[in-house]
Amino acid sequence: MVEASTKNMGRYVGHYVGRFAPSPTGPLHFGSLVAAVASYLDARSQGGDWLLRMEDIDSTRCRPQFAEEIPRTLFAFGFQWDGEIRVQSRQLDRYQSALDQLKAAHLTYACSCSRKEIADSSTQGIDGPVYGGVCRDRDLSSTGNAIRIRTTPQEICIDDRAQGRQCQRLENDIGDFVLKRRDGLIAYQLAVVVDDADQQVTHVVRGADLLDSTARQIYLQQRLNFPTPSYLHIPVVTNPEGQKLSKQTLAPAISAADACRLLRDALLHLGQSVPGAQYDSPVTLLEAAIPTWQIARIPRRKSSHIS
Ligand code: GLU
Repeated sequence: MVEASTKNMGRYVGHYVGRFAPSPTGPLHFGSLVAAVASYLDARSQGGDWLLRMEDIDSTRCRPQFAEEIPRTLFAFGFQWDGEIRVQSRQLDRYQSALDQLKAAHLTYACSCSRKEIADSSTQGIDGPVYGGVCRDRDLSSTGNAIRIRTTPQEICIDDRAQGRQCQRLENDIGDFVLKRRDGLIAYQLAVVVDDADQQVTHVVRGADLLDSTARQIYLQQRLNFPTPSYLHIPVVTNPEGQKLSKQTLAPAISAADACRLLRDALLHLGQSVPGAQYDSPVTLLEAAIPTWQIARIPRRKSSHIS
């Protein structure tokens, strides 16, 4: 079970709490399996908890059938999570209250700019166009408009456990970013920060496609007075064309019939030693991989492809 962690200088100390947070936009594929294996082994090798969270906040892309299927698939692959599964779509009040807190601190503003207006008037940043803050002082109504947070040029750095030191100046590199979309959907960046804090997550282990989101998340943690977890971003799995495996790139679903082979492939992708043939069930294989888990063996890359 989750034990209380204590705050210390804005960082968590104490009992390790990790998590795996798939978005049920499709079935689990090999890329998601690699993230699950990494977060699971890192947590278990440190005697930690491993939580499961269904990131179904984007109701336009998520499907209930996958929210039900993903835990079944994980179980069939030998994963055992602690506590209840947290489901984002049941936490909307929590996200709204965090948004209200930021609004009360005058950190947010409503924005009516369309995607096209932003693309036409902005410079290119680390993760798309840098929103220059046209609506910052327009005092627009929040009804029917997106809500953004004001950013600053102050440098935010993380010491990623695999990728090393990463720094961003949000105002220059990203721009004021959206917390609530015009259609009323809470943005991933806010939901994930509230969830990680509520679940007392001390260690985030996930794909390197989210490395560039981390400074935004730390900025929100600081504004909401939440502690900052430690971060480890593993290389994402790409297809031979260099595209990240995802529903959009038609990554095939993983099948429990192939669990042991796929778990071994996931360990290889992560540079880990692979348990011998005597470990012939997913549970025993995963168990055998816990004591040999080594961060130093993870390739220091943002992606690597499967053949
Ligand atoms: N839901 C995200 C995904 O499936 C992961 C978010 C996270 O780990 O912070 O890519």
